[in-house]
Amino acid sequence: MNDNEIRRLAHALDALRPDWPISSLTSFIRKHLASWPYRDAAVALAYIACDTKPDGQHASDTPKRVLEQGPWRVAAAVGGSTEMRAHAPKRHEECPDHPGRWAHNCGLCNVEALDDDTPPAETLPNLADANPRLAQRLQALTKETP
Ligand SMILES: [Zn+2]
Repeated sequence: MNDNEIRRLAHALDALRPDWPISSLTSFIRKHLASWPYRDAAVALAYIACDTKPDGQHASDTPKRVLEQGPWRVAAAVGGSTEMRAHAPKRHEECPDHPGRWAHNCGLCNVEALDDDTPPAETLPNLADANPRLAQRLQALTKETP
């Protein structure tokens, strides 16, 4: 994500959860999620923001739970992460500094461009690595859809 996307996401989340200050959200997203695709981060964070316990109380006091494994990761991966949805870049489409990533929207370059000396956080883990059974079920479901 670029800095503009990070700020827009922070404002959107603050609208969902006014108890989460925009400045804290911006710092958190910049530090931990800047390398995620914008859509994936938006879906996962919106899930966390709106998730409730059975008693109707918010399930999360902070957005930090997005860094753990949970259904929000699955929600972000439905239809494929935007990073991997279509196909991997061909060699001439690749970022020269980050093989395997698109040159026109390289998350790692975006992270490096942020005026923050925080090292890039981990990228969104592959669903097949995180939960192989669920990945197989999702794959089977998407194959049945015409
Ligand atoms: Zn790059």
